[in-house]
Amino acid sequence: MKRISDRVWWVTAAIGAHCYLVETDEALVLVDPGLRAGLNRVARQLHANGRPPRGVTDILLTHYDVDHASSAATWQQRTGARAWLGGPDAAILTGASPVPDTWFRRLMAATGLPRLPGGLHLVEAGGLPCGLTALPTPGHTPGHVSFGIDDVVLVGDAALVDAAGRLTPVPGFMMSDVERGEASRAMLDDTAATWLCAGHSAPARRR
Ligand SMILES: [Zn+2]
Repeated sequence: MKRISDRVWWVTAAIGAHCYLVETDEALVLVDPGLRAGLNRVARQLHANGRPPRGVTDILLTHYDVDHASSAATWQQRTGARAWLGGPDAAILTGASPVPDTWFRRLMAATGLPRLPGGLHLVEAGGLPCGLTALPTPGHTPGHVSFGIDDVVLVGDAALVDAAGRLTPVPGFMMSDVERGEASRAMLDDTAATWLCAGHSAPARRR
């Protein structure tokens, strides 16, 4: 694991997308645990760093894509943790809402959607019991959420981050709504965060 700040680590063993661990007084939080293929690697890495995997109290998902979320249901089963996902994304996984009508989203759905985790809570904007703050950032998916703690924001696939800590757009074809995605990126740009940690680019400190 790589330490990012006092309470945030990059769990480098995850496969698919970047996974982050947040440790607060009340909670041990996994954000985007990644593909099922990486589940045991992540568990071993937590264990090797003195955090028993069964101690995970919360699993936060920035959005429903398999590369971020397909191990979440198994993690939840094994730990009894609370799971958190934005309401519009949860509705896609239950079938209550259709998959967004873009070829990319249809293709992703054709390869299989993640199983909805048990113990699911729908994320509302603002403070979560585990100590992080939820920032709705729709665009990549309708229910995409970013999570902040201290001077760190975990932005999932709301944006990429370059080496200088600048937020750059995710390619338009990957967005379910480009305009809302741009507004979300602008909102993240306005936060006072020092560290920006994305799903598919290395965590970077703003210069
Ligand atoms: Zn994604």
